[in-house]
Amino acid sequence: MNKERKLIIAGNWKMNKTVAESLDLARSLKIDLASVKEVDIVVCPPFTSLSEVSKAILDSNIRLGAQNMSEHNAGAYTGEIAAGMLKEFSVRYVILGHSERRQYQKESDALIALRAAAVHAASLKPIVCVGETLAEREAGQMEKVLETQVRGSLAGLSKELMAETVVAYEPVWAIGTGKTATTAQAQEAHAFIRGVLSKMFDEAVARRVRIQYGGSVKPSNARELMSQADVDGALVGGASLEARSFADIIKNSI
Ligand code: PEP
Repeated sequence: MNKERKLIIAGNWKMNKTVAESLDLARSLKIDLASVKEVDIVVCPPFTSLSEVSKAILDSNIRLGAQNMSEHNAGAYTGEIAAGMLKEFSVRYVILGHSERRQYQKESDALIALRAAAVHAASLKPIVCVGETLAEREAGQMEKVLETQVRGSLAGLSKELMAETVVAYEPVWAIGTGKTATTAQAQEAHAFIRGVLSKMFDEAVARRVRIQYGGSVKPSNARELMSQADVDGALVGGASLEARSFADIIKNSI
């Protein structure tokens, strides 16, 4: 597939997989995906598996991501994890502001912006998630919600750092529900987000930013979604938990 930006496809394992299960999955992916050069491939295991997965994917084309990170470098923040700790395991990407964290941990756009800055300060790359709920979409609020989240979660980044930031558009109603946005819905939202980035930064920056789609991506719909002009990859939940389906999503996207 001839794309303006290199595709980036990331697997978000969420709160799944023991260390042994993570190792099995990572080892299978390393073999299955060894020949893929066209896509940046990222896996985001739970924190407890980062160390072993990091070793398992050494010398491969698979990069490591974390599912969250503190805006602080160290200190009395029980349960949090700092950039320096992630870097010990060669983590390169950090998912921020996933809708599950926005919903259950009440993460705000302002907090996500602080974390995005901290991720960049550590020379890591944030994957910043945005997306509307079904109620917001049905109330005709999609654009307003997306613009507020994009402006709030990416506030304060320089043009250079914005260009190195990945945005994930994940309509909340499509996450883990089996409902996928149609290709037209995905393209429309991605183009809208790119337009907001263009207003916030400039057109050149907006054209460099990779925008992933997330929400029930599977091998059968990956190709059509990735063929959209402004869809530059995928953030995959459920279908990333099994080597075959994650590898097929990637292979079908090329
Ligand atoms: C996600 O939570 O990032 C996600 C896209 O999940 P799923 O693929 O299971 O819908």
